[in-house]
This record gives sequence, structure tokens and C-alpha cells, in this order.
Amino acid sequence: MIQIETLSIGPIETNCYIVRDANRRAFVVDPGCEYQPILDAVRGLEVTDILLTHAHWDHIGGVAALKEATGARVWAHEAEAQWLLDPRLNLSSEVPFLPQPVVAPAADVLLKGGERFELLGQAIEARFTPGHSPGHLSYVMGDVVFGGDALFASSIGRTDLPGGDYPTLIRSIREQLLTLPPETAVLPGHGPSTTVERERRTNPFLALG
Ligand SMILES: [Zn+2]
Ligand SMILES: [Zn+2]
Repeated sequence: MIQIETLSIGPIETNCYIVRDANRRAFVVDPGCEYQPILDAVRGLEVTDILLTHAHWDHIGGVAALKEATGARVWAHEAEAQWLLDPRLNLSSEVPFLPQPVVAPAADVLLKGGERFELLGQAIEARFTPGHSPGHLSYVMGDVVFGGDALFASSIGRTDLPGGDYPTLIRSIREQLLTLPPETAVLPGHGPSTTVERERRTNPFLALG
């Protein structure tokens, strides 16, 4: 049995997801800026993997501490491999209220999108969903998709940051996310969860294009 815990972390409330099985094994999606709440939440779990939807500072700020504490493998898109290492690329150097710039360890597994693999006995598919950032991934696991900052409840990710592109984001959402079964739960990088069906019918950014 798989359980998903949501932590809303840090100054811009980034969602960190802790996915665990009955044997207390776990993986973490997007360990956001503050690491202590994440370390508290995974105490007693064996964290084997850290999946990153993208490498903006608010999604990777806890990677260094979590990897140090658990030895988990870090998965990221190859286009943002350098972002983990460089505060100018992950934009943490531009955030005035951070105590220090974010530097994460290098990724152990680099993805392009399209890969299928298994964690905790669950089939997972990495889908390439650029537009908010150039190496953005969404991870499909059964009837759930970890959608990062591509698709939100009634909104979409911003496209004004470096490497962002609005038409690309809309195409990613239409081709890679809205094509999932309608009942698929979308667990986004910020804000409440939603479903593919709800966004397909009511998301104002998708109704017109
Ligand atoms: Zn982002
Ligand atoms: Zn974000």
C-alpha cells in the first residue's frame, strides 16, 4: 500500500511529496527550500530516491540535507543538471530573503523524459513537460501525476523566468498531461491538488487556446 504525504514548505509554499510503502521505504518529490520539516517527516523511513520536477531553488533547497541524511539517489532532467550546482541558474542568488544561496549535489540519474522505471514496486513514467523551465519533468505513478510547476489548480506555471516559454508550456500540458486518464490526480508544485478532468474543463488558461 502506497501513501503520499504532502508538506507545504517555505516562503512560497512549495509542495514536497513523501511517497512511502508499508515497509517504511520512501521516495521524495521536490524537497523544497527548508530541509528541517522534510527531515522530520522522513524520520524512521528509508528514503531511496529524490525525484525533481525541475531545479528552481524552491524545489531543490532540501536536496543537499536530505541526500546527506539518507544517501538517496537524485533524479533530474539533463537540461537542468547545472542548475543544481549554480545558485544563479536555480535563481536562489536572486532571492533576497534566503539565508544563503541554494547549492545541491549533482544528480545521480539524468533523465530526458520518456523513461519508465520502478520505485517502491510502482511503475513510474517521466514525461517531459517544458515551458515553465527548459528541463521540467512530470512523473506519472498509477492514477497520480506529480506535475511540478507545469499545471496548477485553475492556473499554470509562470513562463517569464529564464528558459520559460508560454506556447511550449501550453503544448506540454495539452500533450503530456491532459492526455492522461481524466480521473488522474494532479499533485502540483504549489497549491491544492486537482484532477486532469477538472483542469481540462475549467482551467482558464486551457479553455481558450
Ligand atoms: Zn519553478
Ligand atoms: Zn515552484
